[in-house]
Amino acid sequence: MKNAHPHIIGYEETLEGREFFAAISPLDGQTLPGHFCNATETEINHAAQKAAIAAPAYRNATPEQRAAFLNDIVRLLEERTAEIIRICDLETALPETRLQGEMGRTCNQLRMFATQITDKTFLEEIHEEALPDRVPPRPDLLRKYIGIGPVVVFGASNFPLAFSVAGGDTASALAAGCPVIVKGHPLHPYTSQLVGNCIRDAAQNTDMPDGVFSLLHGKSNRVGQQLLAHPAIKAGAFTGSQNGGRALLQMVNQRHTPIPFFAEMGSVNPIVIMRDSLEKNYEELASGILNSCTLGVGQFCTNPGLVIIEKSAVQEQFLKLLHEIVCELKPGPMLSAEIANNYMAMKRAIASRHIVKIIGKAQSEGKYAEGVPCVMACRASDLLQAPEIAEEVFGPSTMIVLAEDKNEILQVLSVIGGQLTTTLFCEKENLPQHQDLLDKMAEIAGRVLYNSYPTGVEVGLAMQHGGPWPASTDSRFTSVGAQAIFRFLRPVVWQNFE
Ligand code: NAP
Repeated sequence: MKNAHPHIIGYEETLEGREFFAAISPLDGQTLPGHFCNATETEINHAAQKAAIAAPAYRNATPEQRAAFLNDIVRLLEERTAEIIRICDLETALPETRLQGEMGRTCNQLRMFATQITDKTFLEEIHEEALPDRVPPRPDLLRKYIGIGPVVVFGASNFPLAFSVAGGDTASALAAGCPVIVKGHPLHPYTSQLVGNCIRDAAQNTDMPDGVFSLLHGKSNRVGQQLLAHPAIKAGAFTGSQNGGRALLQMVNQRHTPIPFFAEMGSVNPIVIMRDSLEKNYEELASGILNSCTLGVGQFCTNPGLVIIEKSAVQEQFLKLLHEIVCELKPGPMLSAEIANNYMAMKRAIASRHIVKIIGKAQSEGKYAEGVPCVMACRASDLLQAPEIAEEVFGPSTMIVLAEDKNEILQVLSVIGGQLTTTLFCEKENLPQHQDLLDKMAEIAGRVLYNSYPTGVEVGLAMQHGGPWPASTDSRFTSVGAQAIFRFLRPVVWQNFE
């Protein structure tokens, strides 16, 4: 087929398949130029075998050599930013300023890993010298990390740069010394190709082994499943829906040799507002919540989808203000018609329950694939009987939960499952009274915030992005920040070598 883009398999490019697809504009449904093809089983096997062959050489590359590779990816991404952002904007309808910021984050996290792997205190070795005279004698023990082996990364639709081909999963796996095969997200294939070219070129520039990086396209469950099932693959990383993450986790566990699979599947990120805070700041809180929940048309995994308020004298004013603000908001383009349709269907299903009330929604009707901001409300006592109304609605909407008292708030937090974040708003002087709430919040989430909003995740040493199921598959790890590397490292102890 004309204008068909190849898969990148190490230093080769291939295009064997016949199942073609193209990106679709989220603005009008038009087919965008360029065709992509589902990777064939032969191509999948080839990429996995190449990664397996590259793995020992790449694992043994020095941290400085790997850092040079990561830094060269940054150099090429920065050199080619204008073209990448132009294409990404067409494929995702995300505004240029957002994409500039996301490119900055993508480059910064690659740089961060390049710095961390050369810091011996970060990837600490533990040495216990031999004690031959002790009873029983102790051997010399040196504990070090090695890369786990080839990693499959699933590109995310909602972060086409920072959680896609050269995003946090790829950066942390490459930093750990693991070859990476990316299964590109079918909503932004050309963006994936341009970014994949940067990684392939950087690998060649810095003499990395052939097979250290591959990019396979696919708009088919089959591609990702065959990749994850390949015996050469030693770990997987995924950002996306709960259905997708759950299906892939089940598949991984049925492999002859199960492997770690790190899925980040989002959550409703409950915000709890105590009476004192609402009474003092309800105007600021109304606009802050709606800003956070409509940022990026609500397509962030840290979107506050549940706001639990303690009964107070200003409850009605707060709801009235939310109504006024949301009615003035404009719908915005979502990442695809399918995502927009899912959003509308979920919202409609929840709003149709008699226990749920619509507080307000944007007045103008959405155009093609646009998400219409919406605020709903329910009583905590009703939610406790029907917790399914608190499920994640991926898009610009939020549910206000009216709680009689702290006891009801604690009960709601107990039934909504694992979360990426939980947030508490209360006045500083009253914070010590809420240790029970903070304990519950830490029990269910990976990040607990105070008097601030959960959208916007700092990429740093201390960050934790992940939480108990179903927010992620393994709450002991993070997919954002420097600690993300530990998903792809395995400790080995060397005994008696001194
Ligand atoms: P998705 O459907 O989970 O897909 C993500 C990736 O996983 C794609 O590459 C997809 O590939 C693959 N995949 C999904 N299910 C699979 C399966 N059963 N077997 C093998 N591969 C599978 O997520 P999405 O396309 O980004 O968006 C769809 C919905 O997910 C959204 O409407 C939203 O509700 C949710 N979402 C949530 C978050 C969050 O952070 N909470 C982020 C993104 C999306 P193929 O399409 O090629 O099969």
